Amino acid sequence: MALTGLQIQKLLPGTNCKECKSNTCLAFAMKLAAKKADIKECPYASDEAKATLGLANEPPVKTLSFGRDRKLLAGGELVLYRHDKTFVNRTILAVAVRDTDPADGIDRTLQSVRDYVLERVGETLTVEMVAVVDCSGDAKAFADLASKAADVTGRPVILRSGSMEALKLAASAVKGTHSVVCAPSPEAAETLIDCVKEEGHALAVTGADLDAVIGTVARLRDQGFMDILLCFETHSVAEHLQTNTIVRRAAIRDGFKPLGFPTLHFIDTGSLMDDTTAAVTEITRYGGITVLPTFDPAQLATLLTLRLNIFTDPQKPIQVEPGVYPIGEPTPQSPVFVTTNFSLTFFIVSGEIENSGISAWLVVPECEGMSVLTAWAAGKFTAAGIAKFIKETGFEDRVDTRALVIPGYVAGISGELEDSLAGWKVMVGPEEAADLEGFIKQFITG
Ligand code: SF4
Repeated sequence: MALTGLQIQKLLPGTNCKECKSNTCLAFAMKLAAKKADIKECPYASDEAKATLGLANEPPVKTLSFGRDRKLLAGGELVLYRHDKTFVNRTILAVAVRDTDPADGIDRTLQSVRDYVLERVGETLTVEMVAVVDCSGDAKAFADLASKAADVTGRPVILRSGSMEALKLAASAVKGTHSVVCAPSPEAAETLIDCVKEEGHALAVTGADLDAVIGTVARLRDQGFMDILLCFETHSVAEHLQTNTIVRRAAIRDGFKPLGFPTLHFIDTGSLMDDTTAAVTEITRYGGITVLPTFDPAQLATLLTLRLNIFTDPQKPIQVEPGVYPIGEPTPQSPVFVTTNFSLTFFIVSGEIENSGISAWLVVPECEGMSVLTAWAAGKFTAAGIAKFIKETGFEDRVDTRALVIPGYVAGISGELEDSLAGWKVMVGPEEAADLEGFIKQFITG
């Protein structure tokens, strides 16, 4: 748990020598508590103080990394609610294949996972893992499928089997992918630990209840093993939501280390709607890795879009670079539109212009990632600012057009904008981007 300034002060030498550029050790401790200084700036800090502060600065939910490049992350969370600061690492979505599935079905799923890409507000969203489930009881078939899943998709895998032999064989077959091995019982977790360490994977531990999981995690931590995922046996969405909430509160509010790990959850209710509801619950409430039973692009589009919204930083709107964007193949005579650099606004407006079938220029001045009305209210989307941007970018010299379409919500700036941009006529467009196509047909092409 984070230490207060007074707690940190007790760890410092107390000589007030000022070498850290603070007047007193207390002032330096306050900076450390606010994360505005580094303990290394005090040359006299003891090793014990450095170690204590290092541990205190670790996130309450441990960060785990997966994949050959270890760039896929889970955990690392700091807060219970997104609006307290931000959620850090998105719930990883995985799709399951079973070694008893028809061979062509397995191939189709693996290729779909590999190729599926969803573009949203400039971000590329994908399925990040594959779960391989042993239903055949044949250790070699299971390990072969694990190896194939990792090779075809290029993703780390999640290995699920009731057999120690099958798990060890498959863990070895995907060595170097930094994947996940699911222990089928608390006892199995301790049996598997050497193999998991040797092959460089994480271990998902389970148990009949919270106490069983906590006990297993404590024993693994005592052996210095920290690449742990928590996998709870729950029997309804409500129970799962409750369990995830208890676990995250214990980790963040109480600093309870045995529950300070990301979770892994397999979903398979037999109903697409119920699976989706369970996955939505995972994404909104603390899921680390969520495994879906089948590949369904419509379901994935919904879940990935939701996930994008939940895991953006509420203090940093997603924004595009200010600039003048061509839509289609505009010429110097093409119409000119203006909007703000909030990503959602930009992509909706540019999409609606594109849908209308015309080529155009979209002028996007710096608005600190705010939407039209917010930017206008904050004084970031003004007549003077738009005119200055158009002049400074040299856009006037690139086009013959002298008509500019502004969003209907800022109709009030049209007069001032005409005064600021000599020779330009300002047209007031619709308030909603959805009405742009009709506006274009009526006033531009019609
Ligand atoms: Fe205190 Fe260390 Fe700063 Fe000196 S350098 S004032 S001992 S915190």
